[in-house]
Amino acid sequence: MSRKKAMSLKCCPFCGSHEVQICRTNPQACWIRCDECGANAQPHPTRSGAIDNWNRRHYDDVPANIANDDEESG
Ligand SMILES: [Zn+2]
Repeated sequence: MSRKKAMSLKCCPFCGSHEVQICRTNPQACWIRCDECGANAQPHPTRSGAIDNWNRRHYDDVPANIANDDEESG
């Protein structure tokens, strides 16, 4: 598998990583996923639409990964 450069993809809005993947499970669902924190953009049937969703950062149901929390709970 060759790794294409993500030419028009912005970095992850959550962790700032540029390591993102273009995922596709079927012809109707393509989306961008952060390789670093696992954040997903909204899926779209087209690759360019998926990239647009990522760049516009339309997230409504993506939990943030808290790798570090200085506030003790309990
Ligand atoms: Zn990320």
